[in-house]
Amino acid sequence: MKALVYNGPGLRSWEEKPEPEIQDPTDVIVRIDSSTICGTDLHILEGDVPEVEPGTILGHEAVGTVVEIGDAVTTLEPGDRVLVSCITSCGRCAFCKEGHYGLCTGGGGWIFGHLIDGLQAEFARVPFADTSVYKIPPELTDEQVLFLADILPTAYEVGVLNGGIGPGDTIAIVGAGPIGLAIVLTAKLYTPGKIIAIDLADSRLEKARELGADVTINSGREDAVGRVLQVTGGFGVDAAIEAVGVPETFELCTEIVRPGGRVANVGVHGHPATLHLETLWIRDVTITTGLVDTVTTPRLLKLIVEGRLDATPFATHRFPLDETMAAYDTFAAAAETDALKVVLEAEPASGKGAERELALVGSND
Ligand SMILES: [Zn+2]
Ligand SMILES: [Zn+2]
Repeated sequence: MKALVYNGPGLRSWEEKPEPEIQDPTDVIVRIDSSTICGTDLHILEGDVPEVEPGTILGHEAVGTVVEIGDAVTTLEPGDRVLVSCITSCGRCAFCKEGHYGLCTGGGGWIFGHLIDGLQAEFARVPFADTSVYKIPPELTDEQVLFLADILPTAYEVGVLNGGIGPGDTIAIVGAGPIGLAIVLTAKLYTPGKIIAIDLADSRLEKARELGADVTINSGREDAVGRVLQVTGGFGVDAAIEAVGVPETFELCTEIVRPGGRVANVGVHGHPATLHLETLWIRDVTITTGLVDTVTTPRLLKLIVEGRLDATPFATHRFPLDETMAAYDTFAAAAETDALKVVLEAEPASGKGAERELALVGSND
């Protein structure tokens, strides 16, 4: 089979790899139907995630079809269409039992395209399948659910829930990339009073407005702190959510939060940031950090089924799976291409996939 392989910092290729096989009885093998690329994949390629071994297949977000199941798998069958999430849960360790799948110590957590082969491939081995994948209702398309694999639960759990967003709250989202925009989308579930989006790129701020931001601030041209204080009557926001991952944006969040407010860090940081306790100690501010657990994936899936949540606007570019290399070029050049998420689409092989395509052709007549 073909797969996108990390061959060391700066080196990726679309190359031939052996098809995955069942290794543990709790595994399934999934044929990948749709996959996507994450900013984290770019960090890996920059060499920022040294535990990723050269030779590893990248990718941790996919929709696929089960083609083979291990002996101990009881809730899945070949032919099932499933969401393969960025987080795997062993279902048995102390952290999984309290819903903290991201902290799994039983062999799960973030493993795809990190500690084991990932999902930008024609097939993938999925460990702990019973407790880690989500069956997809037949009425939903791949694109409607694909972003449940990472950005939606990350935005919702680490941004909106950790940030304690409630009705009427004024919130600031620093960073309007895919995660920041997914925070705009999922924050609206709580009817905040005002959503302020802050970024350096006008095109992303425009997208934030389309998705529901009320105020946008280009922090490259404007004094972000001054503007936030101006629109909040001088107090600052109830919750400031960091969705970039650099020291400046974290520190900005601590400057624009009101006394008694919350700072929720979502960004992946590679460098130390300064915590200004000399000003914060007296302000009763709560700061949270976190990796997604994906414990809310079933709830978000229900919202998509009911038409209350639509993440399809994130799909800005589509490529056939075997053009994953070109998809990386487009995604990595987001400043020029305005890419949010690139969808990698496998050709329908046979069976269900082929039937779906026939139905589509029929409906166009
Ligand atoms: Zn990701
Ligand atoms: Zn576990």
